[in-house]
Amino acid sequence: MNLNRRFLLSRRPIGTPRPDDFSLVQTPIPQAADGSFVVRNRYASLDPAQRGWMDDAPSYMPPIKLGDPVRATTVGQVHSSANPSYFLSGMGAVGLTGYFGLIEVGKPRRGETVLVSGAAGAVGSAVGQIAKIKECRTIGIAGGPVKCKRLISDYHFDVAIDYHGKSVTALSAEIATVAPGGVDIVFENVGGDILDAALMNLAPKARVILCGLICEYNCAEGKIGARNIWQLIVKQATMHGFLIMDYVPRFAEGGAQIARWIGEGRMRIDEDIVEGIENTYSAFMKLFSGGNQGKLILKIA
Ligand code: NDP
Repeated sequence: MNLNRRFLLSRRPIGTPRPDDFSLVQTPIPQAADGSFVVRNRYASLDPAQRGWMDDAPSYMPPIKLGDPVRATTVGQVHSSANPSYFLSGMGAVGLTGYFGLIEVGKPRRGETVLVSGAAGAVGSAVGQIAKIKECRTIGIAGGPVKCKRLISDYHFDVAIDYHGKSVTALSAEIATVAPGGVDIVFENVGGDILDAALMNLAPKARVILCGLICEYNCAEGKIGARNIWQLIVKQATMHGFLIMDYVPRFAEGGAQIARWIGEGRMRIDEDIVEGIENTYSAFMKLFSGGNQGKLILKIA
């Protein structure tokens, strides 16, 4: 059916509503445009409150205007959409990993310094931006000048560090230069040398959030591990393994907060969308070469 059926209020009922207070009209299905979407309603809740909304009287909601559809709570399906959705990125598991990992585990306080590895990636860019919203100082580590430039221009990190070609000692010294008092929170997405360099720069009582160790995922010869964990003792710091699955019951809450920040222009989400199922392998490998710019997504159809 290509027509939209609408149940309109055509006259204000006096006393008990009569059938001719309403009209059922057919209009073309509207086109989704400019960020909007069209929902095909499947079920509508019928409630006594609707009778009150039909009167032209002050209430907790404005009255239904004559000629407008009778207002109802509905359950429907999206028919067409011109509204970008971030449910595989910012408002999906990776954005929420940044959100819950930083806020619930890291417990950032205003003025603290947050160090993020994999900072230009899906999780890392969310962590950096949320840490800034929480009024922290942010240091991002990423591979190469292009990503480091984006850390500053797109994700508003205070400092960007390019880890390419640097030893643990060199990286550690660079972090020490930009955070002489140490870092209060380490959000670790990479591991290996980057984690070792971060551990050498902990502030007293620092929190290290172990989110991912991507530099080890393809190591056939065994795990790299962390060699500087003795610094946890020296700085009385904690290292906390984090798994987003613990927070599934709170996804709606976290997603709503991230959506608000996106809407307010305080958070930017980048997606790297590769088209075609035949490109799955080459797209997947971008994650390990650093080729992805933002959340990597495969457009299947
Ligand atoms: P990203 O979008 O960050 O993509 C991966 C990035 O990792 C690459 O672009 C590259 O960035 C960097 N990288 C890859 N290999 C290496 C390497 N050998 N050494 C250094 N850097 C490397 O991916 P996600 O944001 O989706 O994931 C980030 C991390 O978060 C991963 O470790 C992932 O496993 C983890 N994660 C954990 C979750 C949890 O619940 N604990 C949930 C979701 C993700 P660059 O070019 O800067 O090197």
